Amino acid sequence: MIHFIDGQFLAKDSINVSIDDRGYYFGDGVYEVVKVYDGELYTAEEHIERLFQSASKVKMTVPYSEQQLIDIAKELVKVNGIVTGHIYMQVTRGVAARVHQFPNPGTAPVVTAYAVHNPRPMKTIENGVRTIIVDDIRWLRCDIKSLNLLGNVLAKQEAYEAGCAEAIFVRDGIVTEGSSSNMFGIKDGVVYTHPASNLILNGITRRVVLKLCEQNGITVKEETFSPDEALEMDEFFMTSTTAEITPVIMIDGKAIGSGEPGPITKKLQEAFTRQIPVSVVG
Ligand code: PMP
Repeated sequence: MIHFIDGQFLAKDSINVSIDDRGYYFGDGVYEVVKVYDGELYTAEEHIERLFQSASKVKMTVPYSEQQLIDIAKELVKVNGIVTGHIYMQVTRGVAARVHQFPNPGTAPVVTAYAVHNPRPMKTIENGVRTIIVDDIRWLRCDIKSLNLLGNVLAKQEAYEAGCAEAIFVRDGIVTEGSSSNMFGIKDGVVYTHPASNLILNGITRRVVLKLCEQNGITVKEETFSPDEALEMDEFFMTSTTAEITPVIMIDGKAIGSGEPGPITKKLQEAFTRQIPVSVVG
């Protein structure tokens, strides 16, 4: 596969990254994942814009324009022949001797990107997944898509060890989000999700779903709910760029609603599929 690093498109095996990269030492960087459907980037502008926002929040500059990053992503799709998959993009604060404070202002950020083939996860989209609840031990800037993902990594591992696909974070008695997804509960026809704040990543798929709810006459309340309330929801689902809208059918061993993907979730999935450029499902 051909990767992008600092202005060049190179074969993966020929790329060397410095051991002094601050991404490696500190997780000092930001990233994005952009989905590719039918060889086309999906909601790329929104993702690139969020990359710039994440960078700005950690006082980093991105040495390209939004259009240049989109062009790089498009080139990766083309040269790697991606039909369904995604682009990963990362910017770190650059290469410098290991001290915590920022390196000299002249230090160039390191920009890398690659493309992968990745089919839509139709099995889990159709059948749903099981989840567990874990303590949200992360920092207080979860709105930043930072490379620092240890809290997320530990949570996802705990879920996998419990035979589940995702971990649902709870902070101070409130469901925040998943380890790599946003969480939605449905009760009496109303969709509930944690408001966009410093405690969650405002997912691009989350924003798409909020819009789809509006377009389809489904009431949304961006209001918090507790784990006990989550267990009493009629339906539950999670969203992310790669998981799309995935039904959550079980939380901590308890079935949600009927224990199967619910009707409003399915309606939203259909609406979602209608607005992505896929000629062939899967
Ligand atoms: N929250 C977290 C913690 C995530 O890692 C992700 C995946 N990027 C999301 C939410 C969903 O965001 P998006 O829909 O933009 O992929």
